[in-house]
Amino acid sequence: MQYPEPIARLIASYMNLPGIGQKTATRLAFHTIDMKDEVVNEFAKSLLSVKRDLTFCSVCGNITEEDPCNICSDTTRDRSTILVVEEPKDVMALEKMREYRGLYHVLHGVLSPMEGTGPEDINIPSLIQRLHNDEVTEVILATNATTEGEATAMYLSRLIKPAGIKVTRLAHGLSVGSDIEYADEVTLLKAVEGRREL
Ligand SMILES: [Zn+2]
Repeated sequence: MQYPEPIARLIASYMNLPGIGQKTATRLAFHTIDMKDEVVNEFAKSLLSVKRDLTFCSVCGNITEEDPCNICSDTTRDRSTILVVEEPKDVMALEKMREYRGLYHVLHGVLSPMEGTGPEDINIPSLIQRLHNDEVTEVILATNATTEGEATAMYLSRLIKPAGIKVTRLAHGLSVGSDIEYADEVTLLKAVEGRREL
């Protein structure tokens, strides 16, 4: 039996989400039918809003409602340090510990020869540009401890060190393959405090 068109479309939409297969998508779609009108309206509005009201900071690449973002435009932050992460959600995780007062740079990915992702495909050129312009003395590489995260850190280290800028890597309080977004605040704080020079 074919699902009615609206249900089929909703199932297909849910299947675009990471980790959602046909079975879960079908369950979610039928659950949506049972939801109250106002709840579904709110859900639809929030989906549209994240695309319409959010943009990427033209300086650091973080998601923001205003450009530049409130971290880049905060004059009380230490502009001599840039902490490099893979995704905006890593910034959220690091900001939660309230200890780091420098700036960020979001790569939006990692180098991956297997998937054909080179330096120009992620926010590396804009990082290099910032190092030319700003008074940066240290770059902290906080890509994840995966094979690609490590390779990206090594690549950036080789690129940045000749400019006379100190390059550090988060301490391995984070276990191999673990993501910054899932680390608790104490572990993150230790990883930042125990960072080692590359
Ligand atoms: Zn920014």
